[in-house]
Amino acid sequence: MATQRVVVVGGGLAGLTAAYALTRAQPEADVVVLESSGRVGGNVRTLRRDGCTVELGPDAFLTRPGHAEALCESLGLGGSLRAPDEGASRVMVAHRRGMQPLPDGMALGMPRSVSQLARTRLLSPLGKARAAMDLVLPARDEPEATVGALVGARFGQEVKDHLVEPVVGGIYGGDIDELDAATIMPMFANVRGSLLRALASAPRPTGHSPMRAPHGGLDGVVHELARALGPDRVIREAPARRVARHDDGWSVHLDDGVRLDADELVLATPPGVTADLLEAESPELAELLRRFRLKPALTVVMAFERASLQLPRASGALIPRNAPAPLNALSAVTFVDRKWPARVADHLSVVRTAFRPAHALAWMGASDADVVRFAREALSTILPLPEARWSAVERFETGTPCPEVGHTRRATECRARAAAMGGLSIVGAAVDGPGIAGCVRGATAAAEAIATRISGIRG
Ligand SMILES: Cc1cc2nc3c(=O)[nH]c(=O)nc-3n(C[C@H](O)[C@H](O)[C@H](O)COP(=O)(O)OP(=O)(O)OC[C@H]3O[C@@H](n4cnc5c(N)ncnc54)[C@H](O)[C@@H]3O)c2cc1C
Repeated sequence: MATQRVVVVGGGLAGLTAAYALTRAQPEADVVVLESSGRVGGNVRTLRRDGCTVELGPDAFLTRPGHAEALCESLGLGGSLRAPDEGASRVMVAHRRGMQPLPDGMALGMPRSVSQLARTRLLSPLGKARAAMDLVLPARDEPEATVGALVGARFGQEVKDHLVEPVVGGIYGGDIDELDAATIMPMFANVRGSLLRALASAPRPTGHSPMRAPHGGLDGVVHELARALGPDRVIREAPARRVARHDDGWSVHLDDGVRLDADELVLATPPGVTADLLEAESPELAELLRRFRLKPALTVVMAFERASLQLPRASGALIPRNAPAPLNALSAVTFVDRKWPARVADHLSVVRTAFRPAHALAWMGASDADVVRFAREALSTILPLPEARWSAVERFETGTPCPEVGHTRRATECRARAAAMGGLSIVGAAVDGPGIAGCVRGATAAAEAIATRISGIRG
């Protein structure tokens, strides 16, 4: 039996994980990863400067469902995993009365009890009364609701605008009036009656953060994956342009006329790229993939003399979309030395801010100096900022897929259509994510399925 060849297109976390998991499950398979750029890791970008380790892209991963943690263990990084500092677990929300703490224990900004509502200064008395009406409002029946529609209908506009929008918008970078409740809050999307009652009986957070990241930075995961695969298995500056199906497998066509044949093909590229690659083979699947909308992202990091900056004792602040301009161009700010104290040199304070997608797009082509000046001006409205010692800007033109209404259904259909074509797997943030935890789970599952098929062939 000839060695089975697997080509993985895309050297982000999903593609590298799929390749790594496959080499572990099926060591005799001939696996190769094609990455279009000169570096692997995709969105994972870690900055090291002046004794600081700062994430410009993803900051940490969710420990549920556990695959990302298991991957780190397997790579020898288990001992280096850290949770954000518990002493600064509070999250602030920018509000017209300055920054106010988000009440503890909320579920994506949704309150779990009337008493929790009563204590927060983020809502007016009227807003609190409207939210409590959730207990007596008639049941609703709206299939495929957005997060905004679901929360607004049950809790009213204030909970939607001052609690849920900043939290959900901050995590998913999208508009809560477009984001899919079934994908983002699956436990509650099908609740027809009171959300407060459903939330009260849902499992409570433990009080410990479910987020983890290697102490040395998330790019350590990328480097360990690439190292474990070895230089012959990871080919950089190799953009795939087209894939074609044959009787006995697939071929991948690169820019320079090179063709690679594969028994199994894994596409771990952003969904628009995956659609282009598959256009000739399955216009229907390509069309489905193009319906995943990507949100560009832009992050700015600023470092200050620690003695010159008074940060609240919190991991950061969320910024509601209805905050006054120019602050509303930003979705969140992380106080890096509060959240990850061991990652920042003692004499510095580091602040990282993320632009809302529309503003990220608008500022994508501006100079670093202009972007930093604007971010600084916007942030100064809630946090007086001294002169920065240094700053950095990172642009994510592709960004991340936004889980809009119908997302989970579309993702399932994509995977099913790919499987029906034989020897094709689609993995990554659109179909498995949008976060690292989902990407690692999806890539591992795809690798295990391929390994099973290969061992079936080998008999
Ligand atoms: C600013 C930001 C913050 C985030 N924060 C978090 C967070 O805190 N926690 C979390 O869990 N998630 C976070 N995410 C999401 C997380 O980054 C993604 O879930 C994950 O990195 C996606 O990995 P991926 O491999 O699917 O895609 P990508 O990282 O996009 O990788 C795709 C790869 O494919 C390559 N490629 C593209 N075209 C081709 C081609 N034609 N041929 C070959 N290769 C190609 C690209 O160069 C890239 O390397 C964040 C994302 C961003 C942008």
